[in-house]
Amino acid sequence: MQTADIQRRWLDFFGTRGHTVVPSASLVSDDPTLLFTVAGMVPFVPYLTGVVPAPYPRATSVQKCIRTNDIEEVGKTPRHGTFFQMNGNFSFGDYFKEGAIGYAWELLTTSQGDGGLGFDEKDLWVTVYKDDDEAIALWKKIAGLPEGRIQRLDMDTNYWSTGQPGPAGPCSEIFFDRGPAYGADGGPATDDDRYVEIWNLVFMQYLRGEGTGKNDFEILGELPDKNIDTGMGMERVAFLTQDVENMYEIDQVRPVLDAASAMSGRRYGADHDDDVRMRVIADHVRSSLMLMTDGVAPGNEGRGYILRRLLRRSIRAMRLLGVDAPSFDVLFAASRDAMSSAYPEITEHYDRVSRLALGEEEAFLRTLAAGTTILDLAVAQTTVTGGRTLPGDTVFQLHDTFGFPLDLTLEMAQENGLTVDRAEFDRLMTEQRTRAKLDAKSKKGALADLSVYGAFRAAGETEFLGYDALETETTVL
Ligand code: ATP
Ligand code: MG
Ligand code: MG
Ligand code: MG
Repeated sequence: MQTADIQRRWLDFFGTRGHTVVPSASLVSDDPTLLFTVAGMVPFVPYLTGVVPAPYPRATSVQKCIRTNDIEEVGKTPRHGTFFQMNGNFSFGDYFKEGAIGYAWELLTTSQGDGGLGFDEKDLWVTVYKDDDEAIALWKKIAGLPEGRIQRLDMDTNYWSTGQPGPAGPCSEIFFDRGPAYGADGGPATDDDRYVEIWNLVFMQYLRGEGTGKNDFEILGELPDKNIDTGMGMERVAFLTQDVENMYEIDQVRPVLDAASAMSGRRYGADHDDDVRMRVIADHVRSSLMLMTDGVAPGNEGRGYILRRLLRRSIRAMRLLGVDAPSFDVLFAASRDAMSSAYPEITEHYDRVSRLALGEEEAFLRTLAAGTTILDLAVAQTTVTGGRTLPGDTVFQLHDTFGFPLDLTLEMAQENGLTVDRAEFDRLMTEQRTRAKLDAKSKKGALADLSVYGAFRAAGETEFLGYDALETETTVL
């Protein structure tokens, strides 16, 4: 099934079951505690938390999402994109567990000929929060699932709360079993390569009070109005139903991968490392295209920094595929062509977006050329003396003076069989930050935009992706 087909089936299914179809919100979230829209529920948070009365009892959407905390997984697991689409159905005090489980099971297992997604019941497993006997009973009753395909897990994976006092509750997740060729036979709790998580059902059932941590808080009681928030990964369903190996090979992503392969002359499937690079490029180019379409421009802070990192990682991956010449022209056009029927705004903004992308590429290729010369010299100096570790001050200078990203230095050092004196680098970074802070204090207001970091911290335990990247790497690029 083409991705557009899955989207249509999803919206038809929930639309004809009383859900108001809500268009995707921007990737740039309205929520000041989030850099990006990280889940389908983000635009509905005021209704789910009861801060604003919901204008409809049920809603459904296909939401554009960015999750930067998955960046290291991209290309290595089959299922993590920095950009992906989360299909959601939401109930605001309307149906609850039985409805959510019933709808999910019906849509997944109804045949494609009858408008469903056509999964074979035998391939589906579920996880539930270990004490959620109600959900377990419903899975047995509605889906006829045997005990052996229901796994009880603890709060780490199967409980939701914002990290603050407010709504909270157990989750139940649905997994697809790819079969013995992908791993051992132990269910989702044991192998997330064989058992691919496709859909998370969150039952907002309780009111939580104060607590000391994500999994340690007081339950004050049942919520008078219980809500449902679900999220199904559209790319995951696409790859599982398109009979390809991973989400980078689906119709909306594969053309970029093929373009990278054609430009480099390296065949996809011939070499593991090259394959990962092509998948990273396909993912990051798409994410960048979508971010820029939603108004983000490359920069040194916050959202712009994340975008810059995605762009630079793509350029870097192209170089590792042996392509030193600019390639964004071709790659972005491939992604535009694959995505614009689902998001016509891409075409509308494409001139601006491609200008930004090409400008960033040109600048980074210059940085790379300069930094690589310095790095090669440092590598030679280290190895000639029999050393195995690049000195921290060289690495610091590379990033500070030449704008050479740390992750790049680490990778290039590794390619030369060297490590990096990370402790010394970190010490120099801290020293520099302290200097910058003192400097900022003396020039009051000069760093006013640091408020964005305050906002991250205020997010507490909620999923605020990109924090790590900002904390450790804002000054790295
Ligand atoms: P995983 O454990 O596989 O990382 P998750 O538990 O972090 O997924 P949820 O937060 O439960 O994911 O999000 C709901 C659904 O969104 C998931 O079941 C999955 O189908 C999809 N999803 C989550 N993260 C990604 C991603 N990075 N790329 C593609 N789809 C994703
Ligand atoms: Mg995850
Ligand atoms: Mg999970
Ligand atoms: Mg999950």
